[in-house]
Amino acid sequence: MIVAKTIEEYKKIRKNLKGSVGFVPTMGYLHEGHLSLVRKSKEENDFTVTSIYVNPTQFGPHEDFNKYPRDLERDLKLLQNVNNDIVFLPDNKEMYPDNFSTWVNVENLTDVLEGKARPGHFKGVTTIVTKLFNIVEPHRAYFGQKDAQQALVIKKMVKDLNMNLEIVIMPTVREKDGLAMSSRNIYLNNEERKAAPVLYKALKLAKKLHSENINDAEFIKDKMEQLIKTEPLAKIDYISIADTESLQELSKIDNKALVSLAVKFGNTRLIDNIIID
Ligand code: AMP
Repeated sequence: MIVAKTIEEYKKIRKNLKGSVGFVPTMGYLHEGHLSLVRKSKEENDFTVTSIYVNPTQFGPHEDFNKYPRDLERDLKLLQNVNNDIVFLPDNKEMYPDNFSTWVNVENLTDVLEGKARPGHFKGVTTIVTKLFNIVEPHRAYFGQKDAQQALVIKKMVKDLNMNLEIVIMPTVREKDGLAMSSRNIYLNNEERKAAPVLYKALKLAKKLHSENINDAEFIKDKMEQLIKTEPLAKIDYISIADTESLQELSKIDNKALVSLAVKFGNTRLIDNIIID
């Protein structure tokens, strides 16, 4: 596995890659969710590039940028085990030099849900992803459905700005008890970890109610809220039932909906979602 620590180092390597390049952007502290993206990229491309970069501009001033988990040695081992070809590890000085002044912003889709709860978050995401796409020059890039709104925002950006690559979205990988894998799960203490699967239970409840022909979104959200509140450690940030493309809230589920939620356990904020069809 080749490790490139600067843009220049990466570009030298990129010049010699003959064939298709798949790209998996990550913030590291890798788990099976990330590795599922690398595996898919390996299947579909001649070369796979994974980046590890904790992007400061997508964290709010009171968020967890400084304490975001980092373990490069472990990450490199995991990537080696899945035969990832190239790791790109840029640093802050190169990504955001002192005079940096250009931002990419997707409107409307970023006004709701995570965008509303975390102002500026998506502007940081779309800017860093654009920079990484320009540097890495992939034919395909792989993202997780775990971050459903992020996936939609990136797809919209690629379409609106005529970016020359394909975006592939992969299903959410979960622990045995249903908790969606996340680098942030490490923050949970034992009690919080035991309570956290209630997120997925609530999402499955929405699916079950819909399968019983209940389509009143408020009713379903109330039932989800009641279930989550059975766990005293869970503090709901939002529960949403929205259109899968526009992300506008629905009052009634006609055929398809994105059910998503954000719930805090102590200082740890977890998100999850499910599409009901
Ligand atoms: P992150 O390192 O959290 O920025 O995530 C990097 C990529 O991995 C993003 O495209 C995420 O959506 C994806 N990802 C994170 N967790 C999961 C998961 N549990 N299942 C599938 N993809 C995931």
